[in-house]
Amino acid sequence: MGKIKRIGVLTSGGDSPGMNAAIRAVTRTAVYNGLEVTGIRQGYAGMINADFIPLQASSVSDIIQRGGTILKTARCEEFKSPEGRLKAYNNLRDAQIDGVVVIGGDGSFTGARLFNEEHDIPFVGIPGTIDNDIYGTDYTIGYDTALNTVVEAVDKIRDTASAHNRMFFVEVMGAEAGFIALYSGIATGAEAIIIPETSGEERDLKKIIEIGNSRKKSSNIIIVAEGDKGGGAFGIAEKVKDDFKDYDIRVSVLGHLQRGGSPSAIDRVNASRLGHAAVEALLDDQKSVMVGISNGEIVLVSFRRAVKLHKDVNHNLVELARILSV
Ligand code: ADP
Repeated sequence: MGKIKRIGVLTSGGDSPGMNAAIRAVTRTAVYNGLEVTGIRQGYAGMINADFIPLQASSVSDIIQRGGTILKTARCEEFKSPEGRLKAYNNLRDAQIDGVVVIGGDGSFTGARLFNEEHDIPFVGIPGTIDNDIYGTDYTIGYDTALNTVVEAVDKIRDTASAHNRMFFVEVMGAEAGFIALYSGIATGAEAIIIPETSGEERDLKKIIEIGNSRKKSSNIIIVAEGDKGGGAFGIAEKVKDDFKDYDIRVSVLGHLQRGGSPSAIDRVNASRLGHAAVEALLDDQKSVMVGISNGEIVLVSFRRAVKLHKDVNHNLVELARILSV
């Protein structure tokens, strides 16, 4: 592959607040380095359908504070086949795109890795998902905003729960990971946190809540990650309702409001750093890697490792939450 003159940028898979800040950083860093930029709309579907738009520095004005993604995102079955990826490759070639920045999650990186095994246009990834469950990076874009949204919502639920002596099971996003649940649980002083990563005593709601109730708490908030094996907030509430007959039990599923909203300052800064780093990586002839942030520094992690390895929650924090809820 020769020198990079034009890069493409797309958002793929689930959207997350801060993706626009990343698009802006990619575009502006590219322009700063004398490159042309092409926006690819609707994720990999736009690559296969040649849904391309030119981006200039001014195209990304006034978007850093906006949730969602100006390029739209989509899921695309066709990209999962070699034929689909070949179509995408031919379109990228025709549009003279020499390198691509993919902003997305695990699935998007799997597609990018396969593409780079088959074709010579380098792909670099930026982790964008509210779940924060990507190995090799401390942050994914959107996580901090989603966390703050959840904390604001749970604080409100706490007010009404206290007023009525209620026990609330609040379901938050996290299909396979409990990062949002664990951190929001600590931040809101939840009585218990139920996440896919825990087992045994850590999940013994009856025990946890009995300890707290020795001093007659007026409310109980239990945060449940949607992907928890116990069946989400409704499933767990159903299982324990006979154990807590004194409480009026309610369930609240926060749902898609967690994906929206103006990105937090942290997400904007991280997205800006990662967008810049992704373009630098392409200029350094990198391919098939994700840019991440580890211990405050930018790191490169192969797509293979980012997807294959599992990022666990910090179990000291699970213990901390338990201690602080007495
Ligand atoms: P995320 O990137 O947020 O994890 P998805 O899992 O939906 O979201 O993946 C986004 C897109 O990435 C898919 O619609 C598909 O085009 C591509 N993709 C996902 N998994 C694969 C795969 N195994 N092979 C090729 N492409 C994939």
